[in-house]
Amino acid sequence: MKDTAKHQGLRNQLVTLLKGKGITDKSVLEAINKIPRHLFLNSSFADYAYQDKAFPIGAGQTISQPYTVAFQSQLLEVKKDHKILEIGTGSGYQTAVLCLMGAKVYSIERQNELFKQTSILLPKLGIRPKHLSFGDGYKGLPNHAPFDSIIVTAGAPIIPQALMAQLKIGGRLVIPLGEDIQIMTLLIRKNETQFEKHEFGDFKFVPLLENKN
Ligand code: SAH
Repeated sequence: MKDTAKHQGLRNQLVTLLKGKGITDKSVLEAINKIPRHLFLNSSFADYAYQDKAFPIGAGQTISQPYTVAFQSQLLEVKKDHKILEIGTGSGYQTAVLCLMGAKVYSIERQNELFKQTSILLPKLGIRPKHLSFGDGYKGLPNHAPFDSIIVTAGAPIIPQALMAQLKIGGRLVIPLGEDIQIMTLLIRKNETQFEKHEFGDFKFVPLLENKN
């Protein structure tokens, strides 16, 4: 579990690259500059951890590409102490970014192996999300709702109704929508019944699965 000056140098380069791709939110860039992404990957990929790429993390899943993590985090407009629900904990890297930005993070993962692995890793790195749970993200976490914002980190064929219902008025839901290719979509809740929709181009995610193993 080493983080060296070499890793820090590679992180600085990654941050420069993300700025060049249009990421401007300082708290997002600072978090990415601090988090040892190489420790969220299997050691065989550790040398490539600061490339702007997705990598396998086991259970057929991937850690999202840093640009995607930065783009989604920026769309959330995180303020300190915001209560954020994440669907798809995976490696915990996106969770860590939101924690370092000062959010109270609640995260759900449906692969037990990843849920267990990440529940051990994050505290080891001194990162403490409010709540990690094993279960189906389509249902959200009704007992902890409402949330200031919700981020879905897998490709969703539809917008889960439960997630819309668990968003505060004024809250933001960031969700990649679509089957093979996803359109990054932001919904802002205007009132009890109305949501404003914005779309931000194509991304590629593993699927958000429902009732499947
Ligand atoms: N945020 C993660 C991204 C992992 S990929 C990271 O940075 O590493 C997406 C994750 O969503 C996978 O771990 C997958 O198992 C999980 N997932 C897919 N469908 C889900 C569902 N219905 N509920 C919760 N998690 C789900």
